[in-house]
Amino acid sequence: MSLPIRPEYAGQHPYGAPQLDVPVRLNTNENSYPVPPEVTEAIAAALGKELAGLNRYPDRDAVALRTDLAEYLGLTAEQVWAANGSNEVQQELLQIFAGPGRSALGFVPTYSMHPLLALGTGTQWIEGRRTASFELADPVGQVLAHQPDVVFLCSPNNPTGTALDLEVIAAVADVAPGIVVVDEAYAEFRRPGTPSAVELLPRYPRLVVTRTMSKAFGFAGGRLGYLAASREVVEAVQLVRLPYHLSALTQAAARAALAHRGVLLSTVEKIKDQRDRIVRELRSLQVPVADSDANFVLFGAPDAPALWRDLLARGVLVRDVGLPGWLRVTAGTEQETDAFLAAMKELVA
Ligand SMILES: *Cc1c(COP(=O)(O)O)cnc(C)c1O
Repeated sequence: MSLPIRPEYAGQHPYGAPQLDVPVRLNTNENSYPVPPEVTEAIAAALGKELAGLNRYPDRDAVALRTDLAEYLGLTAEQVWAANGSNEVQQELLQIFAGPGRSALGFVPTYSMHPLLALGTGTQWIEGRRTASFELADPVGQVLAHQPDVVFLCSPNNPTGTALDLEVIAAVADVAPGIVVVDEAYAEFRRPGTPSAVELLPRYPRLVVTRTMSKAFGFAGGRLGYLAASREVVEAVQLVRLPYHLSALTQAAARAALAHRGVLLSTVEKIKDQRDRIVRELRSLQVPVADSDANFVLFGAPDAPALWRDLLARGVLVRDVGLPGWLRVTAGTEQETDAFLAAMKELVA
């Protein structure tokens, strides 16, 4: 049977990496550390308090949660908006600031959801260019040439790991005719001296920084993403949010997790150590590696599909991001890194 789906979806496949049952899963940039017992207990208690009230709709505006997130960023609740993952936040941004007749520009290779969100919202997607070393190629010139309604900057960028200097973001914001979105899903993993675009918010009322609890917080299953921006942007996004989009359970669980952020974020330094170790050891094997400010590493693989299969045969799942000559590996626990590097030593030798 053929369904009357929108023509632009013909032949498309749903987004998603293979979720294979292998010992070492390093393909989706999750935090490998389980939620520790003291936090699971706090979340369970917080959820318990919500249960009798589930006959009522949740707080539409998630004010308590936004207040907690704002405190984490050093902002106020009016400058923060939250949804079920930063993907939903970004979809809302396109719904209100882009859509039919409008365009969004991103610099490829970048997060593959950005063009898919553009497709879903009827936004024209414009592929910006990067240099061979994955820097943005004349971003100001590209923005001036295309005049996009939304510019996506991803810093640190997935899948390359590259972070952007604030001067580059500011230069783009200076010339962009519409909204500039900086996707900072991996912000907590950035190396010392790499600032966050949150610092630029006071200067740019059309700048939006999106963040998530899916990576550093180890809360991917909780589905909580958020943005920081001017009060005007936050008000605009509320025009398109679905009513009661964030369940009472999600709000309560995320607040309990945030209250324990010290414990949750204590894995970040360990993960950064493994990331830096992967970079070092792959380079000593003469494997090309892109510098990374994230919890993953992009590494050279002349025959990427073959190396992906060979690693899988050794029980290690990495990501083929569809970038010829490259694969991406998540920095996990020390043991997971051991397994990945041992397999690479065998395969590269
Ligand atoms: C993982 C990731 C996200 C996270 O999306 P959520 O919906 O918050 O889980 C966002 N942006 C980038 C670039 C990512 O890699």
